Formats: sequence, structure tokens, C-alpha cells
Amino acid sequence: MPVIRQLPPDLINQIAAGEVIERPSSVVKELVENSLDAGATRIEVDIEQGGARLIRVRDDGGGIGPDDLPLAVASHATSKIGSFDDLEHVASMGFRGEALASVASVARFALTSRLRDADSAFRLEVDGGRMQPVRPAQHPAGTSVEVRDLFFNVPARRKFLRAERTELAHIDDLLKSLSLARRSVEFRLSHNGKPLRLFRACPDQPSALARVAEVLGEGFPAQSLHIDHAAAGMQLSGWVGLPTASRAQADGQYFYVNGRLVRDRVVAHAVRQAYADVLFHGRHPAFVLYLELDPAGVDVNVHPAKHEVRFREQRLVHDFLFRSLHEALAQTRAGLAVPPVH
Ligand code: ADP
Ligand code: MG
Repeated sequence: MPVIRQLPPDLINQIAAGEVIERPSSVVKELVENSLDAGATRIEVDIEQGGARLIRVRDDGGGIGPDDLPLAVASHATSKIGSFDDLEHVASMGFRGEALASVASVARFALTSRLRDADSAFRLEVDGGRMQPVRPAQHPAGTSVEVRDLFFNVPARRKFLRAERTELAHIDDLLKSLSLARRSVEFRLSHNGKPLRLFRACPDQPSALARVAEVLGEGFPAQSLHIDHAAAGMQLSGWVGLPTASRAQADGQYFYVNGRLVRDRVVAHAVRQAYADVLFHGRHPAFVLYLELDPAGVDVNVHPAKHEVRFREQRLVHDFLFRSLHEALAQTRAGLAVPPVH
């Protein structure tokens, strides 16, 4: 007879970690998204040995009070939603209340924070799921999370970490995509003590375009069109690359839905259709696009890592995207003397 057992919480967290924490860049994603949710204007990411040894994310956000520190690392504990209705309208990056618990179960973890208006800071350490008492600490207003020796207690996972430069490249890509998601925020990345990237806050359109150029290449601005189009309660803005900015790989595509980078079938299809008659077969367009719509119109609770979304009105979204992009590319089409598609 099989014996059915309730799993202990540590093991539950480790299993949850398996869903969200694939590699160091997944940890960076969760931590930086938390900093963004906390209203940070500056976020520093320090990495050692591709993240295998250390991942540290520091922010100047709202902070966490000493009584809340243990809750922050408890599973299914979040300050972002409290009801089913909240989930339907969620506008924050996080809402599952799982990330810190997961990370803390597979690493040596420390959370240090000072509330914005408080004069003292506190620190909580968790060693592979074992929580230590909260202690006073030194820290400016905001939060630091340190994740050391990722997967030290999950050898099967640790073994799958790739070369330092591969993991770092994943982190760098992630930071690029986050920097485009929140252009008002300053991001810094350093590796083994060496500064690697500095994305300064972009207060206006030219500086925003400079950030886009840093991610998509110096040539991109001159080979793209700015678009800003609203209809049916949706807004699409950003930069669409002209055919000359197209690539052999689909690695220059940034599509944000309410500030969240997504890979979505409906979006991909609309984009492909809009570019169909201006791109050669096998070429992929480059773009940075921001779709804003009522959070109630999009379900972000589809995948633990939240890369996928589900639009409630797929057809409407598809047609809006197609029309906006198709229209933007009309100029190109005229240049190519290809008759417009109706
Ligand atoms: P979620 O983001 O889904 O709520 P997390 O496990 O990532 O879950 O974080 C748990 C809670 O800890 C958050 O809801 C938030 O209240 C708090 N928290 C985490 N990181 C930060 C941060 N950098 N600044 C302020 N609060 C934070
Ligand atoms: Mg989170």
C-alpha cells in the first residue's frame, strides 16, 4: 500500500523553487521585480562568479519593517494582493508571495532592510530554509537581498549551472529587458567587483531612446519609427524597427504588457502579420513596444515565472496590435511599392 504523507514546508519550498528558480538570472528577476514593486528609483545588482557565489540586489524602495521580515520569506505571504478580486486586477510584478521563500530554501540568504521613515535597519538570515532571529543592522532606507551559494543544498541543480560568462550573459539580458520596462529607474550591474552596466534614469524621450540604443544597438534609433497609438481602451507605444533593423534571430524583440515583458502567441502573431509583406522570409523584426490596458483585461497568473499572459479579449488585442503596427509600417510599404493589405 502506498503511504501518503504531507510534505514538510522546507521541501514544499524547494519544490516551488524548482518552478521559478532555474538559474541565477531567475533569482535576479525575482529580486529586481520586488525592488520595482517597492517603488525603487535606483537598483544595484552585484554578481560574483556568474551568480553561483553571490547575487546581491540593493534598492532604495519603501523597505520592510522588522516584524514583517520573517513574513517576507514565508511562503504564500505577500503584501501585494489579499483577495481574488485583487488578483484579477493585479498591477504589481509580484503577487504569488513565493519568490523569497523559494530562494531562501535553496541558498544562504539574507534580507536587510530599513523602512523609508525609520531610523534603524534590521536583518534576517535564512540558511537553506533555516530562519535565524531578526537582528539590528546598518543599512540606508531601502532593501538589500543577498543570495550566496545558490543551490548549495540541491546538488542536482548546482551541477546544471553553466559557465560563469553564460550565467552572466543571462543576467545581463534580463537586466536589459528590465531596464526597458522601467525607464525611470536607474540600474547598475557589476560582476566580480567590476562595473558592467549603468542605465541612468531616463526622464525624457531622447534619453529613453539612448537606453533603447544601448540595448538594441547604436543603429537602431535611425532604423526605427516611434509609435504611440490608442484605441479601444488600449495604448501601444514604443519603437518599431524598420526592415533594415531586422535580424537573423528573434533576439531584438521586447514586448511589454503593463510593464511586464511577455512572450505571447497572440502578440507574436499580430506582429508577424503586420511585418509579413515588408520582411524577407527568415528575418525577424526588432522592436520595443509597450501595450497598456486595463489590468482586468489580462490574466498574468498563467505561469509561475509570469512570462506568459492571457488576454481576455484576444481578438480585440490582436486586431489593435496588427492595425497599429501595420499603419506604422505603411511608410515602408509605400517605399517598397507593395500594395497595402486590407
Ligand atoms: P511577492 O513579490 O509575490 O509578494 P516575494 O516572495 O517576492 O513575493 O516577496 C514577499 C514580500 O516581501 C513582498 O510582498 C513584499 O512585501 C516584501 N518584499 C520583498 N522584496 C522587497 C523589497 N525589495 N522591498 C520591499 N519589500 C519587499
Ligand atoms: Mg516577488
